[in-house]
Amino acid sequence: MTELKPCPFCAGLASIEWANDYDCQVQCTECMAQGPRACVETPEATDKDVARAEKEAEDAWNERA
Ligand SMILES: [Zn+2]
Repeated sequence: MTELKPCPFCAGLASIEWANDYDCQVQCTECMAQGPRACVETPEATDKDVARAEKEAEDAWNERA
């Protein structure tokens, strides 16, 4: 799992959140700032698909943080 940088706005703790079965994004637990969304494209997502989407969201967050 990718190490998440602290929130760029408040330096709070960031964590990965799943909005539903398809979309995940990194969100700040303090100010609720959200990173770019990543998604799995299939309803039959495997653990590998989930891991890929989480990594995508984490990398996108880290680029902005
Ligand atoms: Zn924050």
